[in-house]
Parts: sequence; C-alpha cells; structure tokens
Amino acid sequence: MTSSAFPFAFFNKKFVKTEEAKVSIMTNALQYGNGVFDGIRGYYRNKKIFVFRLDLHLERFQNALKIIGVTIPYSTSQLKKIIIDLIRKNRPNTDCYIRPFAYAGSVNTKPNLDQDEIFNFCIYMITMGEYLPTKVGVSAMVSSWRRISDNAIPARAKISGAYINSSLAKKEATDRGFTEAIVLNECGHVTEGSASNFFIVKNSILITPLITDDIVEGVTRRTIIELAKALNIQVNERTVDRTEIYTADEAFFTGTGVQLSWINKIDKRIISNGKRGKITGLLQDLFFQIVYGENKKYSQEWCTTV
Ligand code: PMP
Repeated sequence: MTSSAFPFAFFNKKFVKTEEAKVSIMTNALQYGNGVFDGIRGYYRNKKIFVFRLDLHLERFQNALKIIGVTIPYSTSQLKKIIIDLIRKNRPNTDCYIRPFAYAGSVNTKPNLDQDEIFNFCIYMITMGEYLPTKVGVSAMVSSWRRISDNAIPARAKISGAYINSSLAKKEATDRGFTEAIVLNECGHVTEGSASNFFIVKNSILITPLITDDIVEGVTRRTIIELAKALNIQVNERTVDRTEIYTADEAFFTGTGVQLSWINKIDKRIISNGKRGKITGLLQDLFFQIVYGENKKYSQEWCTTV
C-alpha cells in the first residue's frame, strides 16, 4: 500500500501546508508515545467524499483523551467542522484516510502526562487504497506476542505508544510469511488482528471477542454487528479460545484501514475451503455498498457527505 499526503493539514490551531507541520525531535510524544489518535475513512464516489461514521470516530477519540486524562481545546462538533473544512481544502478525488492526532507536544523529557494536560492537536490526510486484500483471502497466524491489557496500556483507546504491540505482532507474521497476526490476550483468549477486529462464523452464528477482552472498540466491528443483526444473523459477543478459530466455518478482520478482509488460513489450517464464506460475503458486499454511498437505508445515516 503506498499512500501520499494531501497538501493541507491542521496544525497548531490553523490550516497549514502538510510539509510545514513539523515538530522538534525532542517532542515528548515522539519519545514516549504520549498521544492518542483516530483513523477515519473518506470514500470517493460521484465527486463526493463519504466520511464513514465520523461521529462514532470522534466519540472514541474524545473517550481516549478522557482515559489518559488529558484534554484538547476542541469539542466534538468543533472537531467535526475542522475535519469537513480540511477535506474541502484538500479536495480529494480518491479514497482518503483522515488522522486526528492529539499529542504531548512539549519538549519535556519526562514520561509524565501531567505536564501536558492540554495536548497539542493536529489532523492530516493521506490517500488510502487497500490496507489488506479484500478480494482474496489472507493468511493469518496466532502471534506469540500478547495483547496489551487494560491495566497496562488500555487497548480500547487508540494510544500511540500502544502500537509497538501491533507492530511486533505484524512483523512476526510477515517475517514468517503470513499476511496478518491474530493476537491473544494475557489470558490466552483471542483478541484481534494487529490493526483490526476479528470475527468468526460457526454454525451460522457470527462470533467476536468481547470489548472487555483487550480489543480496540472498533467502529467497523460495531457496524458489522449492527448489519448482521439487521440481516437476522445471530451475533454472539463472547470470549473466544484459540483452538475454536481453527475450526471456524468463516473468519475475517474488520477495521477502518482493513475494511473487511476475509481469512483463508489460520496457522496453516484452511478456513471456509479457502473461499469467501456466505455470511462474510453478505456482510462484505453490504459494507462496500454503504461506504460508497450506494445504500438508501444506511449510507445517509452513517456517511457525512462532503
Ligand atoms: N484494532 C486495532 C488494534 C486497530 O488499530 C483498529 C483500527 N482502528 C481496529 C481494531 C479497528 O477499529 P476501527 O474499525 O474503528 O477502525
């Protein structure tokens, strides 16, 4: 996946050229990962950008700030306006990814959030195509790394420093010839992918780990659960064991970057005859219809059109 930055970013309370949005090498967030972020997709269709579930993303972003006990001087509605203005300024004519990022911008060298109770804030935008393949199955391995736990680095919030955990799992998987990792928590239960939530289908029931099992509270996860229920597919959010996933009928990852990416092998065990499963297919097709503004019922409700 190659991405390029759009020309304008929001930085130090104003719109600037992206290449001018720079920080010092001594920045606290750079050294300790003292930052929180979110990732939002904008889909380009018919000369419009459909921003997917912007309110939910911003709600999660504000919650992440609350979890680490810091603030930024913007309300959710102000953030929404800044994002819409930034999209208008950048005039994308392709799918894009919008990254709000709040960070400890001081050059204080202590790993301490107190000094930075009011965080710096920026937003930038990049082009984004597929993050994982969506048309062919991906191979996954159960990682030897464990997911960070709620009382160490809260997994539900998108905390910058936490992403060393994702990076380690992803590196191990790709070093060993797999596309993606499936990470277990300290109790040995299945959590999620390196940057995506995880689902299986077993006996026509859609199963996904609980939000109390050290996962990111995924916007796409929530969307897929809502869609499955609307399609009368039984959904079971529960703790998932490692060996259950080897015998799943279907399995897939979801995320803003990932979208919906289906799995054909886990630790070399073939899933769903190596093909896209039936329930996976229904959900994937509906998801793509909605995000591109083509579904009467959901597109209007879930997409902010710019
Ligand atoms: N888990 C992790 C670790 C992630 O980084 C992401 C991407 N934000 C997700 C799950 C999926 O969340 P969402 O659907 O909100 O993008």
